[in-house]
Amino acid sequence: MKAISEFYPLLNQPKNVVITTHQKPDGDAMGSSLALYHFLIQFGHNVTVISPTNWANFLQWMPDVNKVIDFEAHQHKAQTLTEHADIIFCLDFNVLHRTKHFAKIIEQAKAERILIDHHEQPQVEAFAYGISNIYKSSTCEMVYDFIIDSENADKLNLNIAQCLYTGVMTDTGSFRFPITSASVHKMVAHLKELGLQHTVIHENIYDNFLENRLRFTGFVLLHRMDVLYEYNAALMSISKQDLLKFNIKTGDTEGLVNYLLTIEGIKFAAIVIDRDEERKWSFRSKGNFDVNTFARKHFEGGGHFNAAGGRSSDTLEKTTAKFYEVIKEYQQQLQ
Ligand code: 5GP
Ligand code: MN
Repeated sequence: MKAISEFYPLLNQPKNVVITTHQKPDGDAMGSSLALYHFLIQFGHNVTVISPTNWANFLQWMPDVNKVIDFEAHQHKAQTLTEHADIIFCLDFNVLHRTKHFAKIIEQAKAERILIDHHEQPQVEAFAYGISNIYKSSTCEMVYDFIIDSENADKLNLNIAQCLYTGVMTDTGSFRFPITSASVHKMVAHLKELGLQHTVIHENIYDNFLENRLRFTGFVLLHRMDVLYEYNAALMSISKQDLLKFNIKTGDTEGLVNYLLTIEGIKFAAIVIDRDEERKWSFRSKGNFDVNTFARKHFEGGGHFNAAGGRSSDTLEKTTAKFYEVIKEYQQQLQ
């Protein structure tokens, strides 16, 4: 993988560009993809954002989100665009399988792949150019750096500012996690100078749910949470039936895992949700418990030191039982 700076001189040559990100894109994934879209179109590139799957309703306000192609809903169109692409930007993920069924098409495309990402252990051989930095708050911050370092600050506009703020806000837990460096606040100051109204974005993302989602949250906190004080850990296991009962959609369970960490003394939180194709795990920790390693070792996953995800093909009961088994290894570490 060559340094991303070697790509800067090529920015001025109009190309067919595809931007993609991880399945079930979150605020940082969609924010960084659309920010880069609004940047690249100013050079005359032919740019399309392709998401491997659908996304949460709370991202539906984002500028030009209606132009994003959902691969699962429009496979043929997405495939044709990807086959004709000269460049594929891969944002907010670093192993191709995180794009689910879109991965094979990305792999076979003739395009050069460019990585911009902040997760641990990138698959560097898969990318022609790129930057991977686990000390960055968000991929949105890295797209900001890309624009500034390539000497294109004049191309920052309000659309880009709204997209970048979304990702940096969501990935830093509204500027609370330790990764929130001075560079984050300097960037936000710059975005404010461009006219960004940050309150509107907080409201769009966090105050835009249906009643059923809040009732579901109450239900699972009351009936599905297990606090394991001997491990300073908490677990929540959510069945397909629970999701159906409250008509839970993509994105409605985002952030749920964080409630578990609000209990005094709890350092490790885990949630498993029974999705159609797999059981999806989310892990969060406080302090020195490394959930990236935990997710990699036991649940085919990865991510960051304090926030990671994983998956399992087992039943919900089986994968939950596995969690109760493997956590025993960590009792000392979690004390
Ligand atoms: P979440 O729990 O919000 O789905 O994910 C937490 C973090 O871990 C995010 O940065 C996400 O991109 C990453 N992540 C989630 N699932 C996986 C996975 O299966 N593999 C890897 N490598 N990272 C994941
Ligand atoms: Mn991210």
